[in-house]
Amino acid sequence: MKYFFDDFGSLKKQIGGRDLFLFLDYDGTLTPIVDHPKKAALAKSTRSLLEKLSLEPRVNVSVVSGRALGDLRNRVGVSNISYVGNHGLEMDAPGVNFKGFDLLPMCEIIDYLKKEINKELLFFKGAFLEDKGVTLSVHYRKLKEARAAVLKAFLHELTEPFLSRKQIRMGSGKKVLEIKPPVDWDKGKAVLWLLNQHKHDGKKTCSIYIGDDTTDEDAFASLKGKGITIKVGGQGDSAAEYYVKQQKEVILLLKGLLALRNKARWN
Ligand SMILES: [Mg+2]
Repeated sequence: MKYFFDDFGSLKKQIGGRDLFLFLDYDGTLTPIVDHPKKAALAKSTRSLLEKLSLEPRVNVSVVSGRALGDLRNRVGVSNISYVGNHGLEMDAPGVNFKGFDLLPMCEIIDYLKKEINKELLFFKGAFLEDKGVTLSVHYRKLKEARAAVLKAFLHELTEPFLSRKQIRMGSGKKVLEIKPPVDWDKGKAVLWLLNQHKHDGKKTCSIYIGDDTTDEDAFASLKGKGITIKVGGQGDSAAEYYVKQQKEVILLLKGLLALRNKARWN
């Protein structure tokens, strides 16, 4: 992986002069990582930056998150951008008709799992369940490693019958386990689908994806050779081409993009 700001100069022509599709993860990318997802608020300055970018001609901004769509939209609060929630299972994009998937058959299973997990979580102080409608996330950031292992073992045992019948899927992120519908769909597939909806000429398009977590790896992989992929949080095992060291640098990067687009417009 290369440090993004080492190459920014040479990427400027590509980023400045084409239709720009900017895909941004929310937690840990647009906001710093916090101990509870409820606390991850978008800074006013970041919101204004997203607004300005969305108003630039030929710039298309999408926020792509594991959060439920409604939650994401409320937190970001910018109109005229695309929202991709629940890792792509939900989408609200201007001018795009996403029909989604038939997730009704699994509602009962999700309801059952939710009840069982909540009962068990009474014994795991600090861990909690995030109900995202069509998916469930169990957060265990505050648990000691040994306790986290016990909780994970419980979850695997509970979900095993449904997993073996392919009625659900499991995923994981930073100190979180996720229960999802059995649909072969992720952030990477959602991003490619969105790009295809916009009738664009690949040669005149520049896509940038910025994210910090394991679920963003799907998008890094799907955009390989097709876009600029940037991992937040230093170097490591990632399919991304570039990295920035910390979340604060994402803001610098977005400011840089805005300045670049401004300049391109007036030249
Ligand atoms: Mg994230």
